[in-house]
Amino acid sequence: MTNLVLDAPGDPTADLLRQFGAADPRLQMFMQLIRQRQPASPAEPQGSQAALDRLTARSERLREVCRALRARNDYLASALGACARCWGEDEECPLCDGRGAPGAFEPRPDAFEACVVPAVRRQRVAVARSEPEPVSDGRRPA
Ligand SMILES: [Zn+2]
Repeated sequence: MTNLVLDAPGDPTADLLRQFGAADPRLQMFMQLIRQRQPASPAEPQGSQAALDRLTARSERLREVCRALRARNDYLASALGACARCWGEDEECPLCDGRGAPGAFEPRPDAFEACVVPAVRRQRVAVARSEPEPVSDGRRPA
């Protein structure tokens, strides 16, 4: 049978047990119960390192998501002629002093063509579908 308590070299508890008669099986069982309640110290650094690795990987993924969203925000703001930093919602914005709402600046033509034009086309179709049918003489009903 392995003597778990006394197998720990340099452990002050093991030294103490040797002094007080480690041959007593009741004392051995008592010490084993105490050991089982304590976290295994060698596992802590590994667990901490694994947790740190997970957090680092998650942080890097979030950083990537943030970079992608920032790029999309900047592109859409340029398509709409808005301040990419605040969209005109921050009077203390160093770029626009809160005057950068959509349409405040000249839109970037290629971004406008790619983002806004298809949306406007779709909106026109939706509006046309929701309008009542014109009467036979070409006038709309009252
Ligand atoms: Zn701004």
